[in-house]
Amino acid sequence: MTEKYYDVAVIGGGPAGLAAAVSACEHGAAKVLVIERDKVVGGILNQCIHNGFGLHYFKEELTGPEYAGRFAEMVRNTAAEVVTGTMVLGIDTPESGPVIRCVSREDGYREYRAGAVVLCMGCRERTRGAIAIPGDRPSGVMTAGTAQRYVNMEGYMIGRRIVILGSGDIGLIMARRMTLEGAKVLACVELCPYSNGLNRNIVQCLEDYGIPLYLSHTVTGVHGRGRLERVTVSRVDDKRRPVEGTAFDIECDTLLLSVGLIPENEITRDAGIEIDRRTNGPTVYENMMTTRPGVFACGNVVHVHDLVDFVTAESMRAGAAAAEYAAGKRVSGRVIKLVNGEGVNYTVPQMIRPDNAGKVTEVFFRTNIPRKKSVIRVMSGDTQIASFRREYMAPGEMEKIPLPRVLLDRAGDTVTVSVEPAGEAADRA
Ligand SMILES: Cc1cc2nc3c(=O)[nH]c(=O)nc-3n(C[C@H](O)[C@H](O)[C@H](O)COP(=O)(O)OP(=O)(O)OC[C@H]3O[C@@H](n4cnc5c(N)ncnc54)[C@H](O)[C@@H]3O)c2cc1C
Repeated sequence: MTEKYYDVAVIGGGPAGLAAAVSACEHGAAKVLVIERDKVVGGILNQCIHNGFGLHYFKEELTGPEYAGRFAEMVRNTAAEVVTGTMVLGIDTPESGPVIRCVSREDGYREYRAGAVVLCMGCRERTRGAIAIPGDRPSGVMTAGTAQRYVNMEGYMIGRRIVILGSGDIGLIMARRMTLEGAKVLACVELCPYSNGLNRNIVQCLEDYGIPLYLSHTVTGVHGRGRLERVTVSRVDDKRRPVEGTAFDIECDTLLLSVGLIPENEITRDAGIEIDRRTNGPTVYENMMTTRPGVFACGNVVHVHDLVDFVTAESMRAGAAAAEYAAGKRVSGRVIKLVNGEGVNYTVPQMIRPDNAGKVTEVFFRTNIPRKKSVIRVMSGDTQIASFRREYMAPGEMEKIPLPRVLLDRAGDTVTVSVEPAGEAADRA
């Protein structure tokens, strides 16, 4: 068993891990290691061959592999080491510093010691089992991401007549992808009364191809021997229960599930790090440190992002902070806890230490329902410390608000973020 020391060890070589590694090197970490379980780095971007990546960061429209390729190149231009085909099994966090346990086919079991660790394991898709769709168990039922990997990376056509359950971005993108590959996408079925994908994807992936979107509907039956033959679709009420008498069948050979992503947090949990039950990711401070000193986290393992550019920005911060931690910097002082108020599903970070916040701290959050003309309020007790207006907000689109340090200095130890309709009363407040 080898035990080597690195200033910063990064777990996962997706866009989050690559950006964290580049930033750790830029901020003085001499020895940086990226550990990736796949054969190549790039993460989920390797299968996202559509464009739309990098508009914010590179001010260009890139495909997923192009975006990942640019960061892989940046890592190659640093002194960081990358090991692929290596699965991290867990991390221990004794007083002497984190120990990473991993295994690979070539080297077997090994351990690495590190000054700081950055968790960048991304997320995984919910499966049929997770949402318990009743019926037969034929082939042809798979997650949209699995289909994306088969079609875009392995070169397999996965079906001809397709129904998609869930209108999140992966489902929408696969509706267009399968159509372009010559399949007939018969319907996109969505449990909520609104789509959970980005607006641009609803237009470009469904409307442009005349694919019907059934809102407030779900799949209530899967039928087929051997291969999928048809699915039953039913309308749901406002409590998301199927409404009797509304069921109809669609003949199809493939059902793609795009019903949510779950941050990959087994390693995080096992390390005793606090998990936010709203995000299913670790609770983090403003510099992306978790509740375990020296362990940082960024990207989809913290909260599911819709835009990789935001993953990059967040991961750059995490990498920089990890390098500083490894060099001995410790942060102390007052902690402000962010509370989810009315209309807010979660915030990231969940904790801010004003003494360590830069001029501005960016807070990400998602609202719970689609809204027009809204006001985002940031309150410290009864005092409003900031407010922001939005013409449109939706759960599928992550929101970002800047909180200047001067305002944080004036705030108490708890700050609530909430959303309400903009109106005269709201304007006067
Ligand atoms: C289908 C789809 C379409 C998208 N479309 C867009 C778009 O058009 N524009 C846009 O900006 N964004 C888009 N995104 C979002 C963007 O791709 C993600 O937000 C981003 O890839 C997340 O980066 P990450 O590094 O956190 O996770 P990932 O890319 O998932 O990378 C995680 C990495 O960690 C590795 N890993 C996990 N566990 C371990 C372990 N135990 N040991 C070692 N390695 C491990 C994985 O193998 C993987 O390489 C899309 C995402 C998906 C899924």
